[in-house]
Amino acid sequence: MAAIALENIVKRFGTFEVIKSIDLKIREGEFVVLVGPSGCGKSTLLRLLAGLEDASEGTITIGDRQVQGLPPQQRNIAMVFQNYALYPHYTVEQNMGFGLRLRSMPKDQIKAKVHEAARILGLEDYLARYPKNLSGGQRQRVAMGRAIVRDPDVYLFDEPLSNLDAKLRIAMRTEIKALHQRLGRTTVYVTHDQVEAMTMADRIVILRQGEIAQQGTPMELYNTPADRFVAGFIGAPT
Ligand code: ADP
Ligand code: MG
Repeated sequence: MAAIALENIVKRFGTFEVIKSIDLKIREGEFVVLVGPSGCGKSTLLRLLAGLEDASEGTITIGDRQVQGLPPQQRNIAMVFQNYALYPHYTVEQNMGFGLRLRSMPKDQIKAKVHEAARILGLEDYLARYPKNLSGGQRQRVAMGRAIVRDPDVYLFDEPLSNLDAKLRIAMRTEIKALHQRLGRTTVYVTHDQVEAMTMADRIVILRQGEIAQQGTPMELYNTPADRFVAGFIGAPT
């Protein structure tokens, strides 16, 4: 587990300032949901945390380390995307263990970790299957399994459920929350779904054009939105 601190984070692509001096502290074990309109910088912020992009200015602390310049694999973070790609020619078990094989972990240890993650995610009966023989929800679970086996300090989710149908989205929402309760890991979860934000978050952070428009518990934002923009996302009608 690890707390996260973003201090004066700025990210520019050329002259375009995508992230404008963001300060954000996330407590150890907290489940923070990032929402905001398309293009406001949500994915960029996650990619900065993951080390897939470097900040133009500012510092990022994860646990007791400043991580600027550290490559993704040294940050002990796992990221689950919307367009998760499974290897079609690998079984579920091989897909879930892939990252650990890259780290040259002994085979019996990999097997133990994959089976434990499969048990948590209800995938035990599917370990020998290939991705083409899985449902969309099962595939998304395998993608989550790949994250779990790495036992990261921090989970980053970038709209992980937006490709699933409504019924499955609700089921997976509950599963991700159960996983968080069970493992207690610090989580940053991006969504554009208001219901997901309201039901999953300890705290919601609303981004607007690269800046934090407002943050607070779901009830705080619902009851006292700072302005019409926030109300449009979360709040009661004004
Ligand atoms: P969101 O996830 O909130 O929809 P993004 O973080 O993906 O937003 O993108 C924020 C803005 O930054 C968008 O205008 C996008 O076009 C721009 N952007 C993202 N990545 C790059 C990049 N590698 N180069 C240039 N512009 C980028
Ligand atoms: Mg995005």
